[in-house]
Order: sequence, then structure tokens, then C-alpha cells
Amino acid sequence: VSASSRVASRRHMGSVDAGAAMEKIRAAGLLRTRGLIGGKWVDAYDGKTIEVQNPATGEVLANVACMGNRETADAITSANTTFYTWSKLTASERSKALRKWHDLLMSHKEELALLMTLEQGKPMKEALGEVNYGASFIEFFAEEAKRVYGDIIPPTLADRRLLVLKQPIGVVGAITPWNFPLAMITRKVGPALACGCTVVVKPSEFTPLTALAAADLALQAGIPAGALNVVMGNAPEIGDELMQSTQVRKITFTGSTAVGKKLMAGSANTVKKVSLELGGNAPCIVFDDADIDVAVKGSLAAKFRNSGQTCVCANRILVQEGMYL
Ligand code: ADP
Repeated sequence: VSASSRVASRRHMGSVDAGAAMEKIRAAGLLRTRGLIGGKWVDAYDGKTIEVQNPATGEVLANVACMGNRETADAITSANTTFYTWSKLTASERSKALRKWHDLLMSHKEELALLMTLEQGKPMKEALGEVNYGASFIEFFAEEAKRVYGDIIPPTLADRRLLVLKQPIGVVGAITPWNFPLAMITRKVGPALACGCTVVVKPSEFTPLTALAAADLALQAGIPAGALNVVMGNAPEIGDELMQSTQVRKITFTGSTAVGKKLMAGSANTVKKVSLELGGNAPCIVFDDADIDVAVKGSLAAKFRNSGQTCVCANRILVQEGMYL
């Protein structure tokens, strides 16, 4: 098979596969296109939608609700109400629901991976890997939350006792990027839910389908309505609503440095806790004494993993003179 005909036949297969894959996802009940607020799937209040495209072909996969400040305000209210019951459960009770969510993510590995490949463009093998990776955060934090111990600190006065009691902070706003449509969500939502916090997630508008499918499985797992809400659409409007809310106590974000700075500034007024994972700056350096085979393999992986779209993908490769020559 010549290179050109292989590309042509792959393209042909690609389009056939995309249709069959969407059918499979739909049949599993995992093609969700509306936002999730208080356990209900809802359209944008003004009925607006945005297209989700397959980046490999430009084909439209689905039209999803394009939400803004009003839907976000309702998602925050629902998360805030649910906080009072979810946070009162024992860590063990929350852990059971999270464990079930993990198991459902794993048992729907293929559909989730297909969705990710379709809307994000990463190869299927990497998408399958991301389901393992993404689900592992839910498993890890389900277990870890049972071990949120406090501290007893030696007092400075003899008749006092100093105790540290760790408590869930409240509603968390989680804003995530498109390069890891599942794992960036589970990495934020896992620890938050495990500790008793409730969450409003805003996935990237490029990759909302994976987020919505994962949220569907969370509901099936028994994570209560309102503990996990998903809104997507007008990013600045959703971001501003999260920022200005006094009920949102924490913002967790993975994305660009420019947006991270905006969120940090926007969080100042209500003194929210902020966790930011921002843009990378990743040189790959090959020294004279490197093993060339290992260096080539490592550099290729560093440059092209996830279609070259991770925050630590090499953005320049520096090779020492002795090796370069
Ligand atoms: P990247 O370059 O990794 O795509 P972005 O920062 O543009 O990073 O996007 C990451 C996430 O931030 C996406 O979910 C995007 O919709 C969201 N986002 C972009 N602008 C804003 C904003 N003004 N407020 C809140 N979220 C935003």
C-alpha cells in the first residue's frame, strides 16, 4: 500500500467509523448535549446552541447548549443547596458513590474514548489511556478522602489545646481545557466531591461531550443531583458569574496563563481560593552523553504525545553540539 492510498483509505474508514462511533455512544445513552443543573439536563434559557466539531474532518458532531450567566447562577445555587447535605455524609458514604462512578467510567471506557477521539482528535489508544488515567483520580480521591486527618499542635500556652479540623470549603468552580477532556475534570472534581464540596464544571466549548457523558455516569453512580453541575457556552460570562458569586469559594482552572490571570484577579474581590495550572514552557534538551535511541524516542514522545497538545509538550528541542553533529 502506497503512502497516499493508505491515507485515502484511512480517511474513508475514518468517516465510516465516526458515524458508527456516534451510534455506539448514542446507544449507550452517553450522547448528552444539554447542560446539567441540579440533576436535570437543561437547554440554554434562550435556546442557543454551539457546534461541536470533529477536528480531524470539520464535521459537526453535535449541537450543545450555549449557556451564560443565568444558567451558571442556577448551577451555583443548586451546588450551594446540595453542599449542605453532601458535606454532611461520611467520607465512607461519599467514597462509595465515587467508587461506583469510577467503575462506570471504566465499564464505558470504549464509548468515552471514542467520544474523546471524535471531539478532541487524539488517537484512540491515547483516548483509552486517558479514560484509565481520568478514572484513576476518582478512585484515588475516593480512598484518600477517608484519611483527611486533622492535627494537634503543641500550644504556646499550657492551658490551651490547638486543633486543626479540615472541612470542605463549599462550592467549587472548575474550568477545564480541551486537551484532556476527561482527566482534567476528574482531577478537579474527584478531590472536591470526595471531601464534601460540590462543583460547577465548565468544560471547554471544544470538548463538552466527554464532560457531559462523564456527568451522566456520575448521576448513575448515585452522586446526588446538584453535587456535580455542568454548564458550557459563553466562557467569559460563565467565568464572570463564577467569579462574582459569594457562594463559590474556590476556583480551580487548567488553561492559558492569560485566562488564569483574569480568574485570579476576578477571585480577589470575594477572596476565593484559587488553584491554577497554566501554560507550559517546555524545552527538551539532549546532551552529548545521551543514549541516542532513548533520546530520539523520548523527544518524539515529548513533542507528539496527545497530538502534540499537552502543556508539557516540547516547544523547542536543544541538542548539544557533539550529539547534533
Ligand atoms: P487553552 O489555550 O488551553 O485552550 P484557555 O485558557 O483559552 O486555554 O481555555 C481553557 C478554559 O478556559 C476553556 O474552558 C475556556 O473556555 C475557558 N475560558 C476562556 N476564557 C475564559 C474566561 N474569560 N473566563 C472563564 N473561562 C474562560
